[in-house]
Amino acid sequence: MSVTTAAHATAAQAAGLDALRRQDPEIADVILAEEARQASSLQLIAAENFTSPAVLAALGSPLANKYAEGYPGARHHGGCELVDVAERIACERAAALFGAEHANVQPHSGSSAVLAAYAALLRPGDTVLAMGLTHGGHLTHGSPANFSGRWFDFVGYGVDGESGLIDYGQVRALAREHHPRAIVCGSISYPRHPDYAAFREIADEAGAYLIADAAHPIGLVAGGAAPNPVPYADVVCATTHKVLRGPRGGMILCGAELAERIDRAVFPFTQGGAQMHTVAAKAVAFAEAGAPAFTAYAHQVVANARVLAAGLLTEGLTVTTGGTDTHLITADPAPLGVDGQAARSRLAAAGLVLDTCALPWGDARGIRLGTAAVTTQGMREAEMARIAVLFGVVLREERDAREVLAEVRELTRTYPPYPG
Ligand SMILES: *Cc1c(COP(=O)(O)O)cnc(C)c1O
Repeated sequence: MSVTTAAHATAAQAAGLDALRRQDPEIADVILAEEARQASSLQLIAAENFTSPAVLAALGSPLANKYAEGYPGARHHGGCELVDVAERIACERAAALFGAEHANVQPHSGSSAVLAAYAALLRPGDTVLAMGLTHGGHLTHGSPANFSGRWFDFVGYGVDGESGLIDYGQVRALAREHHPRAIVCGSISYPRHPDYAAFREIADEAGAYLIADAAHPIGLVAGGAAPNPVPYADVVCATTHKVLRGPRGGMILCGAELAERIDRAVFPFTQGGAQMHTVAAKAVAFAEAGAPAFTAYAHQVVANARVLAAGLLTEGLTVTTGGTDTHLITADPAPLGVDGQAARSRLAAAGLVLDTCALPWGDARGIRLGTAAVTTQGMREAEMARIAVLFGVVLREERDAREVLAEVRELTRTYPPYPG
């Protein structure tokens, strides 16, 4: 593979990689091979997407050199006048996009955003009510392997065994019983929209803060394809790299009354200097997400996921909640005689890349997939139906994985992530 044959996002990026290859072929080759892998297999990992060439340009810019501890107009370093402009623009765009009074765009990741939200609102030892980990909670929602499970007393709510939907009666009962300081709504594998109004009501009744961890759906919110948690939650945590299609990073949205506490919880409490190249790239992504084309994209992401989920059902997989309202599908391949782990590797051999995930029943793992990346590539309902059929073929081992891989390659050639 050579620099000139790979489909780079931009000519400038190709030139940069050419120079990198002359200086450090070992690393350049990894980058080129990864670029080719992304372009020649289907990225169905629900949390992944392809950022725009403009976002990549901001990420690879000299803003990466700048130290900027603090906030615009109040930095601990000199020379921040220009990066201050970028951060102000990013905050204004995020606040306008989501209708929030305040935005903090410095969290280095979604987990950092959640850590800062807890730091702003909680004390160690406080009780927090969040979705149980086997029902779709994130590591930051009380895993013993994560700071959250170590420092706070988490109580888990779950989904109804029959419908797969959040059991709001249980959430309310647990809130009454445990008097949590905060309730967290948001999940890594729940394919439906949380009922934010119901969560707000339960939180008010319990005297608890409501934290929405909207890491997954925030991009759908930007495109008007999912309900906005901002009017309901005290604090909204999010990532910028999932459906939102920005750089890898996090952000926090809140009302004016919590703005200062949130800002201090990010810096200096849990982070050092902001990554200004990423902050600038977030600004670029917020502008892109505010454009009409992104609204169409977000709705297509959901339409694609619905068709893919229906196709998987037809192929015989069990789909949690029977479908999806989002970009995300959680499915159990057990009816086809294969568990999540084996399914993931069989599908990977055929160029269908996805995750395993916990299922709300039993110990076996299922699979989790999403349509954000393939929709960015321009694929629509017809391609989703075709992909679902390939799932059935691969999982039932009806055809050789290499044969299916050839078909996947054909799809990726028709829909390259970065058309030249
Ligand atoms: C992705 C995700 C996170 C964490 O994001 P990172 O950037 O990987 O730290 C947190 N919470 C939820 C619900 C997520 O889906």
